[in-house]
Amino acid sequence: MQDDPTIVYKARHADSVAVSLDLIPTLAAFKSSLQLVTVNSRRIFVKVVKIRLPQQTPVSTGKKPAFVPQHHWDYRYSLFTKYDNGIQMDEESWYSVTPEAIAEDIAALCGGAQTIMDGFGGVGGNVIQFARSARVIAIDIDPIKVDMLRHNARIYGVSEFVKPIVGSFFVEGPRHAPVDILFMSPPWGGLNASSAKSYDIFERIYPPITQIARTAAGISRNVILYLPGSVDPWAVLSLFEYMPDLAHKVEFRVYCMSNSIKTLAVLIGDFVHLDSLEVARALLNTTKDNDRA
Ligand code: SAH
Repeated sequence: MQDDPTIVYKARHADSVAVSLDLIPTLAAFKSSLQLVTVNSRRIFVKVVKIRLPQQTPVSTGKKPAFVPQHHWDYRYSLFTKYDNGIQMDEESWYSVTPEAIAEDIAALCGGAQTIMDGFGGVGGNVIQFARSARVIAIDIDPIKVDMLRHNARIYGVSEFVKPIVGSFFVEGPRHAPVDILFMSPPWGGLNASSAKSYDIFERIYPPITQIARTAAGISRNVILYLPGSVDPWAVLSLFEYMPDLAHKVEFRVYCMSNSIKTLAVLIGDFVHLDSLEVARALLNTTKDNDRA
Protein backbone atom coordinates (compact mmCIF):
# COMPACT_ATOMS: atom_id res chain seq x y z
CA MET A 1 0.00 0.00 0.00
CA GLN A 2 3.00 2.32 -0.38
CA ASP A 3 2.03 5.93 0.26
CA ASP A 4 -1.74 5.78 0.25
CA PRO A 5 -3.10 8.45 2.51
CA THR A 6 -6.00 7.30 4.63
CA ILE A 7 -9.17 9.20 3.95
CA VAL A 8 -12.43 9.43 5.78
CA TYR A 9 -15.50 8.37 3.94
CA LYS A 10 -19.02 8.99 5.20
CA ALA A 11 -21.33 6.09 4.47
CA ARG A 12 -25.05 6.76 4.64
CA HIS A 13 -25.90 4.60 7.63
CA ALA A 14 -22.49 4.35 9.15
CA ASP A 15 -19.95 6.33 11.08
CA SER A 16 -16.84 7.59 9.43
CA VAL A 17 -14.94 4.94 7.55
CA ALA A 18 -11.19 5.09 7.31
CA VAL A 19 -10.06 3.60 4.05
CA SER A 20 -7.12 3.52 1.75
CA LEU A 21 -7.34 5.78 -1.27
CA ASP A 22 -5.99 2.89 -3.25
CA LEU A 23 -9.49 1.44 -3.60
CA ILE A 24 -11.28 4.64 -4.56
CA PRO A 25 -12.96 6.20 -6.53
CA THR A 26 -14.20 3.31 -8.60
CA LEU A 27 -14.12 -0.43 -8.40
CA ALA A 28 -12.05 -0.37 -11.57
CA ALA A 29 -9.13 0.73 -9.44
CA PHE A 30 -9.25 -2.52 -7.47
CA LYS A 31 -6.29 -4.79 -7.81
CA SER A 32 -6.14 -8.53 -7.32
CA SER A 33 -4.69 -8.19 -3.90
CA LEU A 34 -5.41 -8.30 -0.22
CA GLN A 35 -5.68 -5.26 1.98
CA LEU A 36 -6.53 -4.65 5.58
CA VAL A 37 -8.94 -1.75 6.00
CA THR A 38 -10.73 -0.19 8.93
CA VAL A 39 -14.46 0.41 8.73
CA ASN A 40 -16.33 1.69 11.78
CA SER A 41 -13.38 0.57 13.94
CA ARG A 42 -13.56 -2.94 12.51
CA ARG A 43 -10.50 -4.31 10.81
CA ILE A 44 -11.51 -6.16 7.68
CA PHE A 45 -9.42 -8.16 5.25
CA VAL A 46 -10.53 -7.23 1.75
CA LYS A 47 -9.55 -9.33 -1.20
CA VAL A 48 -10.34 -8.35 -4.76
CA VAL A 49 -10.46 -10.75 -7.65
CA LYS A 50 -11.22 -9.65 -11.17
CA ILE A 51 -12.89 -12.18 -13.46
CA ARG A 52 -12.96 -11.54 -17.17
CA LEU A 53 -16.00 -13.13 -18.77
CA PRO A 54 -15.81 -14.63 -22.23
CA GLN A 55 -17.29 -12.46 -24.98
CA GLN A 56 -20.71 -13.81 -26.02
CA THR A 57 -21.86 -13.98 -29.60
CA PRO A 58 -25.35 -12.49 -30.06
CA VAL A 59 -27.94 -14.73 -31.73
CA SER A 60 -30.96 -12.79 -32.96
CA THR A 61 -32.68 -15.58 -34.90
CA GLY A 62 -35.53 -17.63 -33.41
CA LYS A 63 -39.03 -16.79 -32.17
CA LYS A 64 -38.69 -13.97 -29.64
CA PRO A 65 -41.60 -13.58 -27.18
CA ALA A 66 -43.11 -10.09 -27.67
CA PHE A 67 -42.32 -8.89 -24.12
CA VAL A 68 -38.60 -9.70 -24.34
CA PRO A 69 -36.26 -6.82 -25.26
CA GLN A 70 -34.24 -7.64 -28.40
CA HIS A 71 -30.89 -7.28 -26.62
CA HIS A 72 -31.85 -9.76 -23.91
CA TRP A 73 -33.15 -12.17 -26.53
CA ASP A 74 -29.89 -11.98 -28.50
CA TYR A 75 -27.93 -12.93 -25.38
CA ARG A 76 -30.31 -15.63 -24.11
CA TYR A 77 -27.67 -18.37 -24.26
CA SER A 78 -25.48 -16.40 -21.89
CA LEU A 79 -28.34 -16.56 -19.37
CA PHE A 80 -29.03 -20.26 -19.89
CA THR A 81 -26.97 -22.37 -22.30
CA LYS A 82 -29.87 -24.85 -22.31
CA TYR A 83 -32.36 -22.12 -23.24
CA ASP A 84 -33.61 -24.13 -26.24
CA ASN A 85 -34.52 -27.10 -24.04
CA GLY A 86 -37.53 -25.10 -22.80
CA ILE A 87 -36.22 -22.71 -20.14
CA GLN A 88 -38.95 -20.50 -18.68
CA MET A 89 -38.49 -16.86 -17.65
CA ASP A 90 -41.10 -14.24 -16.85
CA GLU A 91 -40.62 -10.62 -17.90
CA GLU A 92 -38.70 -9.57 -14.77
CA SER A 93 -36.40 -12.57 -14.98
CA TRP A 94 -35.12 -11.65 -18.42
CA TYR A 95 -33.18 -8.81 -16.86
CA SER A 96 -32.59 -10.15 -13.36
CA VAL A 97 -31.36 -13.69 -13.90
CA THR A 98 -27.66 -14.27 -13.18
CA PRO A 99 -25.79 -15.19 -16.40
CA GLU A 100 -24.74 -18.81 -16.37
CA ALA A 101 -20.97 -18.19 -16.54
CA ILE A 102 -21.17 -16.00 -13.42
CA ALA A 103 -23.47 -18.42 -11.59
CA GLU A 104 -20.99 -21.21 -12.38
CA ASP A 105 -18.06 -19.21 -11.04
CA ILE A 106 -19.91 -18.39 -7.81
CA ALA A 107 -20.97 -22.02 -7.36
CA ALA A 108 -17.38 -23.19 -7.85
CA LEU A 109 -16.40 -21.10 -4.82
CA CYS A 110 -18.85 -23.04 -2.69
CA GLY A 111 -17.27 -26.46 -3.13
CA GLY A 112 -17.54 -28.48 0.06
CA ALA A 113 -20.79 -26.84 1.18
CA GLN A 114 -23.53 -29.38 1.78
CA THR A 115 -26.43 -26.96 2.10
CA ILE A 116 -26.75 -23.65 0.30
CA MET A 117 -29.69 -21.29 0.60
CA ASP A 118 -30.64 -18.87 -2.15
CA GLY A 119 -32.82 -16.32 -0.36
CA PHE A 120 -34.05 -14.68 -3.60
CA GLY A 121 -33.95 -17.64 -5.97
CA GLY A 122 -35.92 -16.25 -8.94
CA VAL A 123 -36.19 -18.69 -11.83
CA GLY A 124 -33.04 -20.48 -10.78
CA GLY A 125 -29.99 -18.97 -12.50
CA ASN A 126 -27.87 -19.46 -9.38
CA VAL A 127 -29.87 -22.27 -7.78
CA ILE A 128 -29.26 -24.61 -10.73
CA GLN A 129 -25.48 -24.13 -10.60
CA PHE A 130 -25.35 -24.59 -6.80
CA ALA A 131 -27.45 -27.76 -7.13
CA ARG A 132 -24.79 -29.44 -9.22
CA SER A 133 -22.75 -30.00 -6.05
CA ALA A 134 -24.96 -29.22 -3.02
CA ARG A 135 -28.48 -29.35 -1.63
CA VAL A 136 -30.16 -26.01 -2.25
CA ILE A 137 -33.00 -24.32 -0.41
CA ALA A 138 -34.47 -21.91 -2.98
CA ILE A 139 -36.77 -19.23 -1.60
CA ASP A 140 -38.76 -16.74 -3.67
CA ILE A 141 -41.79 -14.67 -2.80
CA ASP A 142 -43.29 -15.03 -6.28
CA PRO A 143 -45.06 -18.39 -6.83
CA ILE A 144 -44.86 -18.04 -10.63
CA LYS A 145 -41.07 -17.77 -10.49
CA VAL A 146 -40.85 -20.73 -8.12
CA ASP A 147 -42.84 -22.84 -10.61
CA MET A 148 -40.46 -21.77 -13.37
CA LEU A 149 -37.50 -22.55 -11.15
CA ARG A 150 -38.84 -26.08 -10.58
CA HIS A 151 -39.23 -26.53 -14.32
CA ASN A 152 -35.78 -25.09 -15.15
CA ALA A 153 -34.09 -27.27 -12.51
CA ARG A 154 -35.64 -30.31 -14.23
CA ILE A 155 -34.19 -29.21 -17.56
CA TYR A 156 -30.73 -29.10 -15.98
CA GLY A 157 -31.31 -32.46 -14.26
CA VAL A 158 -30.83 -31.12 -10.73
CA SER A 159 -34.38 -30.97 -9.33
CA GLU A 160 -33.79 -33.71 -6.74
CA PHE A 161 -31.23 -31.43 -5.06
CA VAL A 162 -33.46 -28.36 -4.93
CA LYS A 163 -36.06 -27.59 -2.27
CA PRO A 164 -38.19 -24.77 -3.71
CA ILE A 165 -40.07 -22.62 -1.21
CA VAL A 166 -42.65 -19.94 -1.91
CA GLY A 167 -42.42 -17.23 0.73
CA SER A 168 -40.52 -14.29 2.07
CA PHE A 169 -36.82 -14.64 2.78
CA PHE A 170 -37.36 -12.95 6.14
CA VAL A 171 -39.78 -15.67 7.25
CA GLU A 172 -38.55 -18.76 5.41
CA GLY A 173 -34.82 -18.00 5.66
CA PRO A 174 -34.57 -18.20 9.47
CA ARG A 175 -36.98 -21.16 9.46
CA HIS A 176 -34.54 -23.22 7.37
CA ALA A 177 -31.36 -22.07 9.13
CA PRO A 178 -28.54 -22.80 9.58
CA VAL A 179 -26.99 -23.45 6.17
CA ASP A 180 -23.34 -23.68 5.10
CA ILE A 181 -23.64 -20.79 2.65
CA LEU A 182 -26.34 -18.19 2.12
CA PHE A 183 -26.49 -16.62 -1.35
CA MET A 184 -28.62 -13.57 -2.11
CA SER A 185 -29.28 -11.55 -5.24
CA PRO A 186 -31.97 -9.21 -3.95
CA PRO A 187 -34.02 -7.10 -6.38
CA TRP A 188 -31.80 -4.29 -7.70
CA GLY A 189 -34.66 -1.89 -8.37
CA GLY A 190 -35.08 -1.49 -12.08
CA LEU A 191 -33.75 -2.25 -15.49
CA ASN A 192 -30.76 0.07 -15.57
CA ALA A 193 -29.30 -0.89 -12.19
CA SER A 194 -26.18 -2.59 -13.50
CA SER A 195 -25.35 0.25 -15.90
CA ALA A 196 -25.92 3.07 -13.36
CA LYS A 197 -22.77 5.18 -12.82
CA SER A 198 -22.97 4.76 -9.09
CA TYR A 199 -25.38 2.51 -7.30
CA ASP A 200 -26.56 3.22 -3.78
CA ILE A 201 -27.31 -0.07 -2.02
CA PHE A 202 -29.23 1.74 0.73
CA GLU A 203 -31.43 3.62 -1.72
CA ARG A 204 -32.09 1.17 -4.53
CA ILE A 205 -32.36 -2.33 -3.06
CA TYR A 206 -35.76 -3.34 -1.76
CA PRO A 207 -36.34 -5.04 0.66
CA PRO A 208 -33.77 -2.86 2.49
CA ILE A 209 -30.23 -4.18 2.44
CA THR A 210 -29.84 -3.47 6.16
CA GLN A 211 -32.76 -5.77 6.93
CA ILE A 212 -31.38 -8.38 4.54
CA ALA A 213 -27.93 -8.26 6.20
CA ARG A 214 -29.38 -8.54 9.70
CA THR A 215 -31.48 -11.57 8.75
CA ALA A 216 -28.59 -13.15 6.81
CA ALA A 217 -26.33 -13.01 9.86
CA GLY A 218 -28.72 -15.32 11.72
CA ILE A 219 -28.79 -17.89 8.93
CA SER A 220 -25.17 -18.60 7.98
CA ARG A 221 -21.54 -17.79 8.80
CA ASN A 222 -20.91 -17.49 5.06
CA VAL A 223 -22.81 -14.98 3.01
CA ILE A 224 -22.69 -14.02 -0.67
CA LEU A 225 -24.34 -10.90 -2.08
CA TYR A 226 -24.71 -10.47 -5.83
CA LEU A 227 -24.80 -6.78 -6.72
CA PRO A 228 -24.42 -4.30 -9.59
CA GLY A 229 -20.81 -3.51 -10.47
CA SER A 230 -21.13 0.17 -9.63
CA VAL A 231 -21.85 -0.26 -5.92
CA ASP A 232 -19.74 1.65 -3.47
CA PRO A 233 -17.52 -1.01 -1.87
CA TRP A 234 -17.31 0.99 1.36
CA ALA A 235 -21.06 1.01 1.71
CA VAL A 236 -20.94 -2.77 1.33
CA LEU A 237 -18.23 -3.06 4.00
CA SER A 238 -20.31 -0.92 6.34
CA LEU A 239 -22.88 -3.75 6.39
CA PHE A 240 -20.77 -5.46 9.08
CA GLU A 241 -22.69 -3.14 11.37
CA TYR A 242 -25.60 -5.53 10.86
CA MET A 243 -23.56 -8.74 10.76
CA PRO A 244 -21.13 -8.17 13.64
CA ASP A 245 -20.40 -11.85 14.30
CA LEU A 246 -19.36 -12.84 10.79
CA ALA A 247 -15.63 -13.28 10.22
CA HIS A 248 -14.19 -10.00 9.00
CA LYS A 249 -13.09 -11.31 5.65
CA VAL A 250 -14.51 -10.07 2.36
CA GLU A 251 -13.85 -11.01 -1.22
CA PHE A 252 -15.07 -8.71 -3.98
CA ARG A 253 -15.32 -10.83 -7.07
CA VAL A 254 -15.63 -8.40 -9.93
CA TYR A 255 -17.09 -9.66 -13.20
CA CYS A 256 -15.91 -7.70 -16.23
CA MET A 257 -16.77 -7.95 -19.87
CA SER A 258 -14.98 -5.96 -22.59
CA ASN A 259 -13.12 -4.13 -19.85
CA SER A 260 -16.17 -2.71 -18.10
CA ILE A 261 -17.37 -3.99 -14.75
CA LYS A 262 -20.76 -5.58 -14.97
CA THR A 263 -21.55 -7.14 -11.64
CA LEU A 264 -20.03 -8.11 -8.36
CA ALA A 265 -20.23 -11.07 -6.01
CA VAL A 266 -19.36 -10.13 -2.45
CA LEU A 267 -18.27 -13.07 -0.31
CA ILE A 268 -18.37 -12.42 3.41
CA GLY A 269 -17.23 -14.62 6.29
CA ASP A 270 -15.28 -17.72 7.20
CA PHE A 271 -15.14 -19.29 3.77
CA VAL A 272 -13.21 -16.44 2.17
CA HIS A 273 -9.85 -18.00 1.49
CA LEU A 274 -6.88 -15.80 2.30
CA ASP A 275 -3.36 -16.67 1.25
CA SER A 276 -1.16 -16.57 4.36
CA LEU A 277 1.65 -14.75 2.57
CA GLU A 278 -0.75 -12.03 1.45
CA VAL A 279 -2.17 -11.79 4.97
CA ALA A 280 1.32 -11.25 6.31
CA ARG A 281 1.95 -8.58 3.68
CA ALA A 282 -1.35 -6.83 4.45
CA LEU A 283 -0.55 -6.81 8.17
CA LEU A 284 2.89 -5.42 7.48
CA ASN A 285 1.43 -2.63 5.35
CA THR A 286 -1.01 -1.72 8.12
CA THR A 287 1.82 -1.45 10.61
CA LYS A 288 3.62 0.87 8.22
CA ASP A 289 0.54 3.05 7.98
CA ASN A 290 0.18 3.19 11.75
CA ASP A 291 3.83 4.09 12.16
CA ARG A 292 3.47 6.93 9.72
CA ALA A 293 0.43 8.23 11.61
N1 SAH B 1 -30.65 -14.93 -8.87
C1 SAH B 1 -31.95 -15.09 -9.50
C2 SAH B 1 -32.65 -13.77 -9.74
C3 SAH B 1 -33.14 -13.10 -8.48
S1 SAH B 1 -34.05 -11.63 -8.80
C4 SAH B 1 -31.76 -15.86 -10.80
O1 SAH B 1 -30.63 -15.98 -11.30
O2 SAH B 1 -32.75 -16.35 -11.36
C5 SAH B 1 -34.67 -11.25 -7.23
C6 SAH B 1 -35.83 -12.11 -6.78
O3 SAH B 1 -36.20 -11.73 -5.45
C7 SAH B 1 -37.12 -11.98 -7.60
O4 SAH B 1 -37.38 -13.22 -8.18
C8 SAH B 1 -38.20 -11.61 -6.57
O5 SAH B 1 -39.43 -12.28 -6.79
C9 SAH B 1 -37.56 -12.06 -5.27
N2 SAH B 1 -38.03 -11.40 -4.02
C10 SAH B 1 -38.38 -10.12 -3.81
N3 SAH B 1 -38.66 -9.90 -2.51
C11 SAH B 1 -38.48 -11.09 -1.86
C12 SAH B 1 -38.61 -11.51 -0.51
N4 SAH B 1 -38.97 -10.67 0.46
N5 SAH B 1 -38.32 -12.80 -0.21
C13 SAH B 1 -37.93 -13.67 -1.19
N6 SAH B 1 -37.82 -13.32 -2.48
C14 SAH B 1 -38.08 -12.06 -2.82
